[in-house]
Amino acid sequence: MAGIYDRLEVDEDVRRQLQQPSRIHEAAIPVRMDDGSLRVFNGWRIQYDQSRGPGKGGIRFHPDVDADEVATLSFWMVLKCAVVNLPFGGAKGGVQVDPKSLSRLELERLSRGYIRAFYDVIGPDRDIPAPDVNTNETVMGWMADEYAEITRMKVPAIITGKPPGMGGSAGRAAATGRGALYVLDAWAERKGKNPEDLTIAVQGFGNAGYHFARLAQESGYRIVALSDSQGAIHADQGLDPEPIWRHKNETRELKGMVYCESSVCTENDVDQISKDDLLALDVDVLVLAALENAITADNVDKVRAGAILEIANGPVTSEADKHLNEKNITVLPDVLANAGGVIVSYLEWVQNRTGDYWSESYINERLADQLVGQAQLCFDRAEEEKVDYRVAAYLQSVERIASALASRGTQRYFNGD
Ligand code: GLU
Repeated sequence: MAGIYDRLEVDEDVRRQLQQPSRIHEAAIPVRMDDGSLRVFNGWRIQYDQSRGPGKGGIRFHPDVDADEVATLSFWMVLKCAVVNLPFGGAKGGVQVDPKSLSRLELERLSRGYIRAFYDVIGPDRDIPAPDVNTNETVMGWMADEYAEITRMKVPAIITGKPPGMGGSAGRAAATGRGALYVLDAWAERKGKNPEDLTIAVQGFGNAGYHFARLAQESGYRIVALSDSQGAIHADQGLDPEPIWRHKNETRELKGMVYCESSVCTENDVDQISKDDLLALDVDVLVLAALENAITADNVDKVRAGAILEIANGPVTSEADKHLNEKNITVLPDVLANAGGVIVSYLEWVQNRTGDYWSESYINERLADQLVGQAQLCFDRAEEEKVDYRVAAYLQSVERIASALASRGTQRYFNGD
């Protein structure tokens, strides 16, 4: 970040405050397993900076989660909320667990255990969790319920991404994918490209990847490849994400056969390819919707896409990013491209606090206004200052964070300069 700070002439005091998370909460979470045994899971909630508002950010369940990863993700949440001008700071949570190895009851106990461990450090005016990798609205619902049990109060604004019947917002489940599509549309329009002329490969067919692919296909883009953690499929003439998603949920596999139920292809037209091959496809847009570090110094040379849309957090390492820049491959950065999720989380929080609930079409309109408006500012800045979109997004966000921190006073201010 030093380059960004220098460019903006960020005050030393501000730099010092942004160097580390403001609070790191760690807990051992005991869970009674179905066979009667007890397991203890490591969990974290890290609040990086709350100068612009209460902390905001998801909770991830993954075997590779650790304190460093959660801290990094919490910093990205600070940047993301500021890029799109939400009145939130940044936070993140995680539990080191493979949720696929747990039964539904075990998952419920773990979700409730997480809230028992951290209920006193979160709150609607303190820090508001949300879904992230491997957590969904059911998990958020259990967490909201546990919070209500502990505090003996219904506080829906404690957590976002809840089921609709528990105060969840219309449109939240699709928001990250929808937002990414809005950012892609805004960029394509600026470059004079039509959706019909653009081919897309999607790495990561989870919630965000699925909604993006479904909505992008409806808008006319051609989805030619999809992958998940098990494998990948490819069809030049285009895939239909909807039946593939249904099939994946039934069988937990991405198989070629299913989308042949639809009119877009026949069974023979679909190839099974490797996950790595998908990253090397010659497409107009490569969408990274899986995890961090998908493109590294080791595989960046294989990328042939014209542009990258980052729906995951941190899918391109900084070293790989430099290579992409040299190769003139545009990157639509995560802090902007995946901010649709947290924008609709903000709208959910507002609805919960006011008790006034809105229609999905109104929410999508507000999402578009906020995200596309802020994306256009970033794109303008990138053109004016001749920097890439990631740098432009960081400049936009750090400027706002630094101003919030500096308004509390800096050495220069107190010395009367
Ligand atoms: N986990 C999502 C993200 O990384 C959503 C966060 C939220 O809604 O608070 O942006």
